[in-house]
Amino acid sequence: MGHRDTVFPKGEPTRRPFRIESGRAYGPGVADMKAGLVMNAFVLAAFKELGGAPAPLVGLFTSDEEIGSPFSRSVIENEARRARAVFNSEPGRPGNGVVTGRKGGVFMKMEVTGKAAHSGANFKDGVSAIEELARKITLLHGVTDLDKGTTVNVGLVSGGQTVNTVAPWAKCEIDLRFVTPADRERAMEQIRGVVERSSVPGTSATLQVAGEFLPLVETPQAKSLFDHYSACAQELGAPIRGEFTGGCADSGFAAEVGATTICAVGPVGGNAHSPEEYLDVETIVPRAQTLALAIMRL
Ligand SMILES: [Zn+2]
Repeated sequence: MGHRDTVFPKGEPTRRPFRIESGRAYGPGVADMKAGLVMNAFVLAAFKELGGAPAPLVGLFTSDEEIGSPFSRSVIENEARRARAVFNSEPGRPGNGVVTGRKGGVFMKMEVTGKAAHSGANFKDGVSAIEELARKITLLHGVTDLDKGTTVNVGLVSGGQTVNTVAPWAKCEIDLRFVTPADRERAMEQIRGVVERSSVPGTSATLQVAGEFLPLVETPQAKSLFDHYSACAQELGAPIRGEFTGGCADSGFAAEVGATTICAVGPVGGNAHSPEEYLDVETIVPRAQTLALAIMRL
């Protein structure tokens, strides 16, 4: 499994084209997750040409993972329900890690409404939606509980009409991450509380859930798939280790419908979603070999 979309704006590959420098590849999506897609394509082609797969193989290449897979989710779930195992080729972690547990996430949009007024002549008639948004943002960030692994990030804000108008509207986008479903409920309750309570009298706010990722919770079956994959990697001389990450992925949707799932089996890279994103080129072949061997011996 793999996703074709990246987080970067249109035109990014022209501004920052693909390049390789001292064993590392750079460019938008080079690790997250173009390299995983290339690896999947070559592994699938090898099985097609040479045989050896213990069951039919399905390559699922989706298009909307970075926004929470609103369109691909049902496709992933349908394929995962009939899968013996799901390998998601998100980037391998530095130090040759694969991912056995992932946080869940909720993407939300909040809109605040105030009242426009001339900021010079009729200041007192106005109700500033921007001021209310600013107060709400500090409360939202306060929901973060690092010990529990719960985080809230307001990653986008906008609002206002002109510099000399008390802002009649303001909005933001919120990203919540959590480890367990119970943590999700607790945080969502607090977030709803912040949305409902106004600090600036006369404002109101609405909240809309724009996308959701389920956590990848490690099951005994997932643990044995990890051991199986790990033994294959060991045999090929590229030992791996399992780790937990805050990043969300489509693997959560596969795991949620009961499919035995392992994530981040793609080539190793880092600094995803930033201009410093890189891929360790020499990990492409060993990761492809490990995946192929793990499939052959399922
Ligand atoms: Zn990704």
